[in-house]
Amino acid sequence: MTRIFREADATLEPLQGKTIAILGYGNQGRAQALNLRDSGLRVIVGNAEDDYAAQARRDGFEPSSIARAAAGGDVVMSLLPDEVTPGIYNADIRPGLAAGNTVVFASGYCVCFKQITFPPDINVVMMAPRTVGVAVREHYLRGQGFLSFVDVHQDADGHAWAMTLALARAVGSLKSFALQVSFKDETELDLFTEQALVPALSAALTTAVEVAVAAGYPKVAAVLELYLSGEIGDVLHEAARHGWVGQTGLHSPTSRYGTKSRLPRFSSPEMRKTMEEVLAYIQSPRFAGEWGAEQASGYKRFAAMEQAFKQTPFARAEREVMKELGMPVHD
Ligand code: NDP
Repeated sequence: MTRIFREADATLEPLQGKTIAILGYGNQGRAQALNLRDSGLRVIVGNAEDDYAAQARRDGFEPSSIARAAAGGDVVMSLLPDEVTPGIYNADIRPGLAAGNTVVFASGYCVCFKQITFPPDINVVMMAPRTVGVAVREHYLRGQGFLSFVDVHQDADGHAWAMTLALARAVGSLKSFALQVSFKDETELDLFTEQALVPALSAALTTAVEVAVAAGYPKVAAVLELYLSGEIGDVLHEAARHGWVGQTGLHSPTSRYGTKSRLPRFSSPEMRKTMEEVLAYIQSPRFAGEWGAEQASGYKRFAAMEQAFKQTPFARAEREVMKELGMPVHD
C-alpha cells in the first residue's frame, strides 16, 4: 500500500538537541542546510576547502573537513555525488559514526547497489527530494513543499522512521508530501528517467531543431518556437498540476488534432524496446559498474561525450541564437 506522509504525520521532536552534519555543500547540501537551520535546528557543514566551503562561510556556517563534520553529527546527511560516496564513506564518514547516529542519503544509489556496509547500531534512511536544490530552497522560502521519496534501510533503535519524517518536515518537504519508496525503486526509477525519458526527449528536441534549421527557417525563430520561449516548460509545469492528459485541454483544436494524429508515427516499437533494454541494464546492475569504472578512470569518456555534445549542429545553432538574443551562454 502506498504510504504518504504530510506535516501532521511528523514532529521535529526527534531532532531537538541533535546536531545535523551536512556533508557536501553543493546543490542539495546548501539548500537542505539552509532550510534545516531556518527550521531552528543545529546544522554543521563538512566540505573540502574550496568554493563550496567559501559559499558555506558566506551563508554563516563554519565548514570543516567532511571527516570532522561526520564525527560531530548525530544525524549525518551524505549530500555527495553517488559515484564518489563509497570512497568518502569508507575513509571519512564511517570512522566517525557512533551508535545511535542516523545516516541520511538523498538518493538510494549506494545502498541499492550494495556499495556501502553499515555498522548494525546506526539508522540508515533516505530522504530524496524530487527536485533540484535551488527549488528545495525556493519552495521552503515561499512556504510551499516539494515531493520527497523516503524510506528506512536500517532501523537500529526503533526511531528511524520518526527521524526520517522529522527531517522531511524540517527541510520543508511535508508542506507538500513524502512518499515511501524503497531505496531500490528510487534508484532504478531515477536512473531510468535519466537514461530513457530524458535522452528520448533530448533526441526529439535536437532533431526537431536540426530539421527546422535545415529546412531554412531562421534559427532564432526555430529555437524559440521549439523550446527556448519556455512554452514547453510551461506545458510540463501544467502537466505536473493537471496530468499529461489534463494539460492537453489547454491547447487549441488545431494543436490537439495535429499532436494526436501524428503520435502513432513517433510511438515506435523500437523506442519501447530500447527503453526496456536500458531498464534491464540498470537492474542487472551493470550500469553501476560502468559508472564506477568511469569515475575510477578519471571520467575521460564522460568528458569527451560532454565536449562532443557541445559541438553538434544543434548546440552550435543554440549558442548562436542565445548570443543573438543577448542571453548568457554557458560554454
Ligand atoms: P553536487 O554535485 O551539487 O555537490 C556535490 C558536493 O559534494 C559538493 O559540495 C562537492 O564539493 C562534494 N564533492 C564532490 N566530489 C567530491 C569528492 N571526490 N570528495 C569530497 N567531496 C566531493 O551534488 P548534488 O547536490 O547534486 O547531489 C548530492 C546528492 O543529492 C546525490 O546523492 C544526488 O543523487 C542527490 N540528489 C540530487 C538532486 C539534484 O537536483 N542535484 C535531486 C535529488 C537528489 P567539492 O567539489 O568542493 O569537493
